[in-house]
Amino acid sequence: MAGMAQTPVPRDGQEKGRRGPHRILIVGGGAGGIHLATRLGRRLGREGRAEILLVDRDTAHIWKPLLHEVAAGTLDTGAEQIGFVAHARRHGFRYWPGAMEGLDRAAKRVRLAPLRDRDGAEILGARDLAYDTLVIAVGSQANDFGIPGVREHCAFIDSREQAEDFNEALRAAVLRCIAGPPDATLDIAIVGAGATGVELSAEIATALDLAGGYGFPGLRRQLRLTLIETAPRILGALPEKVAEAARAELERQGVTVLTGAEVVAVDDHGIRLKDGRSIPATLRVWAAGIKAPAFLNGLDGLESARSGQLVVRPTLQTTRDDAVFAMGDCAFLKPEGAERPLPATAQVAQQQAEHLARALPDHLAGRPLTPFAYQHKGALVALGRYNAFGSLGRRGLLGGGLFIEGRFAQFSYASLYRRHQLGLHGFWRSLLYWAADLLRKASAPGVRME
Ligand SMILES: Cc1cc2nc3c(=O)[nH]c(=O)nc-3n(C[C@H](O)[C@H](O)[C@H](O)COP(=O)(O)OP(=O)(O)OC[C@H]3O[C@@H](n4cnc5c(N)ncnc54)[C@H](O)[C@@H]3O)c2cc1C
Repeated sequence: MAGMAQTPVPRDGQEKGRRGPHRILIVGGGAGGIHLATRLGRRLGREGRAEILLVDRDTAHIWKPLLHEVAAGTLDTGAEQIGFVAHARRHGFRYWPGAMEGLDRAAKRVRLAPLRDRDGAEILGARDLAYDTLVIAVGSQANDFGIPGVREHCAFIDSREQAEDFNEALRAAVLRCIAGPPDATLDIAIVGAGATGVELSAEIATALDLAGGYGFPGLRRQLRLTLIETAPRILGALPEKVAEAARAELERQGVTVLTGAEVVAVDDHGIRLKDGRSIPATLRVWAAGIKAPAFLNGLDGLESARSGQLVVRPTLQTTRDDAVFAMGDCAFLKPEGAERPLPATAQVAQQQAEHLARALPDHLAGRPLTPFAYQHKGALVALGRYNAFGSLGRRGLLGGGLFIEGRFAQFSYASLYRRHQLGLHGFWRSLLYWAADLLRKASAPGVRME
């Protein structure tokens, strides 16, 4: 927090009777929010045409599709995260730490929860921030569907902190396995075979392969990993051909894939299924479904869907308040004529951020807001270092497109993150990051060992 003193501090209650530039408050600096803040900062903030303030409960951004690598220990979190304070300063916006917990639409104020340190001691009390335009981009989390034992006995990987906590538990379990008898097993169960569960399964197998190279050759054979899915197939949001190829690769890597398997309870021994089977697991991860953070549900009278997501119009304004926008995973947008709402993906969040980064400056200049139109450009899933699969092209979400696999798919998958970096840092700084990445990969172990 040392750099915080350089950031103009938004003070509680100072805005009364204020005249000044339009205030755009963005809550959530994830895959969508950090793009929006960066672009608006460059376009409006630097010239003083608007004040852009980003609020996030974390002090650094990490691209959420990397979290399974953080959880498996194959990603250097410190190297890939972006500190909000420095990034904001560079790109013409301000950042303030805090977790939104309430909204007063009549007074146009957002309520932040008290800020606490790791031990729970209060650093700052609850406070209000004023806005003229509010964009809510707080993402989503896995949905426990109220199943007994899930909250208490499963790990979640919806945030950097949760992914790091899981990695700590994984390293401890690996150590116990290494120190145990030769027939000891490392039993892991992952519930939910969407992109998160599938990618995490393969990444854990990759991590143990890599760890095996550091003097533990039998380790990988001790892994018993079960991926559990209620639906009849894995990767329900991707074309069937991609799902079949991914399942075959997972099974080649020794992962047991159970589909049509409904979880009814979880305890600290494992997962219980509706058909009576029990899956023993020392480590249990819940990666099924999505729901919006609980505080959004009925937030000061805004309309929310069953998932808790805020219902938005095509302009991304919430249905009951023109000054409040929502985007990314926490927004529910069903395009006209579509059977389903837009999926909760980084692709949607980023396109919505790009849209608002164009639309809001135009709106401030007095032009009407334009509707958002999603362009589906394909879908990819990476299976650790083993393979990647995907479909490229603009056909419908499940309609397929050009099926790709192998090195080309791996390259396409990696380029998604590179494009994210490019949008945030520009060409030259991104080039430095990529060079640093190459050097690190050449010199450091590929998996976290300490
Ligand atoms: C392991 C994993 C793999 C994935 N793989 C893919 C993939 O391959 N392709 C793909 O398209 N999508 C993938 N996704 C989904 C993708 O990450 C999300 O759809 C995307 O990140 C959504 O962006 P967002 O901006 O809406 O929310 P997020 O990126 O989740 O960002 C939300 C931000 O809000 C902050 N926040 C939350 N609550 C509060 C609060 N109360 N107050 C202040 N700040 C708050 C968080 O700290 C975070 O910075 C994956 C997700 C996971 C977990």
